[in-house]
Amino acid sequence: MLKRFLFLRGAEFFALLILAIVPLWVSNSYALGLLTLLAIYGILLIGLDVTVGYLGQVNLGHAAFLGLGAYAAGLCVTLLGWGMAGALLMSSLVGLVFGGLLALPALRLAGPQFALATLSFSALTATLLNEWEGLTGGAQGLSLARPPLLGLSLSAHGFYWLCIVLLAVVWLLMRNLLASQWGRAFEALRDSSIACDAMGVSTYRHKVAGFALGSGLGGLAGGLYAFNFQYLQPQSFTYELMVILLLGVVLGGRKSLWGAFFGACLIVLLPNLLSNRLLFEMLAAAGLLLALIAAARAYRHQSAQLFQRLAPIFAMGLLVVGGFMVDNTESWRKAIFALMLFSVVVGLPDGVMGFVAKFLVRSLAIAPARIAAAARLESVLSPQRADGLPLLELQNVRRYFGGVKAVDDISLTVNAGQVHGLIGPNGSGKSTLVNVISGLYAPSSGAMRLQGKALPVGSLLKVSRAGVARTFQNLQLFAELSALDNVMLALRGVYRTPLALLLLGLARRDERAAQAEAMALLDLLGLQNEARTLAKDLTYGAQRRLEIARALARKPTLLILDEPAAGLAKPDVQTLIVLIRTIHARGISIILIEHHMDVVSELCDVVTVLDGGKVIAQGTPEVVKRHPKVIKAYLGVAQEELAEPLIQKEFPAC
Ligand code: ADP
Ligand code: MG
Repeated sequence: MLKRFLFLRGAEFFALLILAIVPLWVSNSYALGLLTLLAIYGILLIGLDVTVGYLGQVNLGHAAFLGLGAYAAGLCVTLLGWGMAGALLMSSLVGLVFGGLLALPALRLAGPQFALATLSFSALTATLLNEWEGLTGGAQGLSLARPPLLGLSLSAHGFYWLCIVLLAVVWLLMRNLLASQWGRAFEALRDSSIACDAMGVSTYRHKVAGFALGSGLGGLAGGLYAFNFQYLQPQSFTYELMVILLLGVVLGGRKSLWGAFFGACLIVLLPNLLSNRLLFEMLAAAGLLLALIAAARAYRHQSAQLFQRLAPIFAMGLLVVGGFMVDNTESWRKAIFALMLFSVVVGLPDGVMGFVAKFLVRSLAIAPARIAAAARLESVLSPQRADGLPLLELQNVRRYFGGVKAVDDISLTVNAGQVHGLIGPNGSGKSTLVNVISGLYAPSSGAMRLQGKALPVGSLLKVSRAGVARTFQNLQLFAELSALDNVMLALRGVYRTPLALLLLGLARRDERAAQAEAMALLDLLGLQNEARTLAKDLTYGAQRRLEIARALARKPTLLILDEPAAGLAKPDVQTLIVLIRTIHARGISIILIEHHMDVVSELCDVVTVLDGGKVIAQGTPEVVKRHPKVIKAYLGVAQEELAEPLIQKEFPAC
């Protein structure tokens, strides 16, 4: 435990301490300038990592935020005569606001489209800074004098220490934020925004907040940049800088403050590395060594394909050999960037710091943080009203897709405390119906009420907050999060600490309580030993159970399970039946879509049968199985006597 603490916190403290005291010996103003730039780029890349690493968006607009922040600070000083504190506040605010605005298309656009939107934004900004000569001085540039900070005029050393203090503050606050429910939400968005909303975590709010935050840090870095160089030109903030920033984040390691810091070191030193022959050769040799170690480890753990192991060695080898062959490494700058980026993307997907951290954790045998002991299940899932009164009422609900009447005039009542089965042949509209209930789709017409109140329509988030939780037929887990984090993200009612206290690191009690509740649910679903396993690394059966645990974390009044047994082996199906019984025993009402008839017979109080988007039969499993229309729908013939043995096993083709 102590080792872990020293490893995590000690290293941070030590690095910042060294940065703070180095200038006491360094009087060389060029070196001090590099160190100052390192602190500024550190803040900039921590901001970029929020959008690129955590939110997983290709953000090509970050250099523009640096520019906007720089000009905002510059203009506050030259036009308004503000001091440094006010100007820096303004540059952060400009980044924050424009970042929030840029996030709005991000909510509509996916992947490459969003990358293009951010690219247009940065082109627009560069043009604006260049052409609005009356304000920015255009291509002539904008000169400014470094203003006093709260009445104190700063020397080069003083300004450096200001940058270091700001880096330390940003580091600390971001560490606390990213280790909290916010950080989990940022990451979860990347894997499945649908599941985020369905688990009551607003995609909209977190995406906008994440972008605004990252861009706000970009703006702050811009303000410092302006006061560092005291001369601004629009062409400093174009796409070429953006590529270098991305290189920094990817090389350093995404989703890591250390990664951002390492990336910043690299960006600052890169021009020097390329112009100094000895340094360049040392870098290339270190790169080759790293590639060899990575390949050896991958070989030992059988964790990468041959290509992944050999390509970085080849690329770094090329760098070493090439270093001896070319005269001027600077003119090969772009090729060298490309080789480095290629090696990292292929060989070290977690970046240099991700690799180093894993290596240290393993070789120093640092134990992972302890997880809180499981809470009592009774306190997590308190028994609910199960009086058999109507819980969910659907009236004439329709959902059409063009000409396809997927759900066609369905009226249905689910009573509190029951397991309500929903069956029907493939394409009969079962998933569409639950998608309408849970808010993924808005109904084309019809009314829905939950506990007598109108159910929100067309919003997963609102329906989830109204007390409906669901699983998905095609799993929607947060693949890159651990099983524990998947459940913790969905937990309702444990996170109470206000943001300001959370940023100061005072949310530990919430986190422990959330861990305890999540562990109780993982226990219930037999996943207690998989708490740290990433969802994508779980077996298929475990993934299905994890989705149920996550839905239970919502503490729902109505739980919708869309084919939970699909693809499971026989023994797993039996386990699942026992589990659903246990959940039901806690008073939770369940809608169960299922095509294994034995599961339906064992679990359901009532079964509704759909065909072609309509209800064709309803009643107890025994009654429904013998219903002529049901037999016809499944077998295509109305032969009652045939039905029993066939349906008993499993409905075919569902
Ligand atoms: P089930 O879950 O019972 O197998 P679904 O609800 O998935 O059936 O599908 C019912 C019908 O609606 C099918 O014909 C399907 O092709 C159609 N459908 C479902 N979702 C969509 C969609 N998003 N767009 C267009 N058609 C859809
Ligand atoms: Mg379906």
